[in-house]
Amino acid sequence: MSASKHWTVSSIRTALEAKTVSARELTADFLSRIEKRNPELNAFLTLSYERAYAQADRIDGIRARGEELPPLAGVPVAVKDVISTRGIRTTCASRILENYVPPYDATAVERLENAGAVILGKTNCDEFAMGSSNENSAFGPVRNPVALDRVPGGSSGGSAAAVAAQLAVGALGTDTGGSIRQPGSLCGVPAMMPTYGRVSRYGLVAFGSSLDRIGPFATTVSDIAAFMAVLSGRDENDSTSASVPVPNFFTDMQNPVDGLRIGIPAEYFREGMDAEVRQKVEDGIEVLKKLGCRTVNLSMPHTDYAIATYYIVANAEASSNLARFDGVRFGLRVDGKNNLRDMYKKTRGQGFGAEVKRRIMLGTYALSSGYYDAYYLRAQKVRSLITRDFTEAFEKVDAIVTPTSPSPAFRIGERVDDPLAMYLSDIYTVTGDLAGVPAISIPCGATSRGLPIGLQIFGPPFSEGRVLQLAEAFERESGNRN
Ligand code: GLN
Repeated sequence: MSASKHWTVSSIRTALEAKTVSARELTADFLSRIEKRNPELNAFLTLSYERAYAQADRIDGIRARGEELPPLAGVPVAVKDVISTRGIRTTCASRILENYVPPYDATAVERLENAGAVILGKTNCDEFAMGSSNENSAFGPVRNPVALDRVPGGSSGGSAAAVAAQLAVGALGTDTGGSIRQPGSLCGVPAMMPTYGRVSRYGLVAFGSSLDRIGPFATTVSDIAAFMAVLSGRDENDSTSASVPVPNFFTDMQNPVDGLRIGIPAEYFREGMDAEVRQKVEDGIEVLKKLGCRTVNLSMPHTDYAIATYYIVANAEASSNLARFDGVRFGLRVDGKNNLRDMYKKTRGQGFGAEVKRRIMLGTYALSSGYYDAYYLRAQKVRSLITRDFTEAFEKVDAIVTPTSPSPAFRIGERVDDPLAMYLSDIYTVTGDLAGVPAISIPCGATSRGLPIGLQIFGPPFSEGRVLQLAEAFERESGNRN
């Protein structure tokens, strides 16, 4: 088996059926790729050898008995370390959970495994998914496999890097403000944020509960569809998961894109965007036109307030969610002087990193009496206006196309001392989180230095099929298929 062979969900299935490879061999190949590359990339925090081989053997057993292989049979995947895995430590890239081993699996993990996927391990990320560069991990930054001196984006940087470096065929990330799409864009791989409620959040360590989504990274749009097919659908364990029927994404993807109306919102194409990003995204829009899509110029007037709104809502929810890490129930405990408050303080003081503390303080402030109306309540109102921008846009268009990120991958260290510059990395992505709509980032070329650029496609709620249809047509036409 060639070390550099590029596998996809369908090529794995073909090879398993033709018996040119076994799930065990494939698993061993990927684990050894990781052993070789990870010291440099730092994309994985934990490898789950035992569980991976047990699953591989199960798949090989199904094959040996001549039974039908499940849809993701033998597909090696990685899971962001904010998603719970039974018996495998789940750190959230934080000291406070450094040794925490969950007693149960997240629904997304369970569904992947039931569909035959092999979980290789847990990926590095920004601590509690708070960040845009993966530099907020307590276990060190991840390097972008395309340019090792640069960030992979964040917060799901390890998942994006793992897939881009072909250390996994797919990976789970989470998106609260852009953390699936932005690292997908910076590492040059397709990455999808589903509609809020499409994929169960059960077992995801909460950051901003009204924003958080789990979604896949892969190397082709068709593989994204394969993961989405398995992940989507109502889960009794997550009351916010939607009972909307899951269509056949593959059938949807076959529909021609000819005649679809594509909205181009002026607010996403103003100053502040890198010139090469602008050029490639505009070229991408031309590709869609060539495919028969019609562009419609739009205004989404509340876009300017999205970053401010997001950082109030997300931090308010985070400050409440993270209160559970008190040294009693999970993970680290640093003893105080026979005094509960002192134990809390010491545990949190030593367990949380600087960015997490900043968010808890900002969120607590925004929720405190006297400021609640001025900040949190107002942010919720603006959130409704941002959502309305999308609702009104989707009365005129079938999808919205924008850049994913205003700049390509930046250098490690470049923005660490400037939280505001870091927060602006999410300027084109946070709107979709606030509005609850689905979106994908797909590669649309690279800068002259070879740094990947991503094109973002938003669709109305529960229109993942159409978003995938456009992304697939774009990928085919633009020759950006990995
Ligand atoms: N970069 C954003 C933040 O720091 C978004 C993170 C995310 O989507 N998890 O909050």
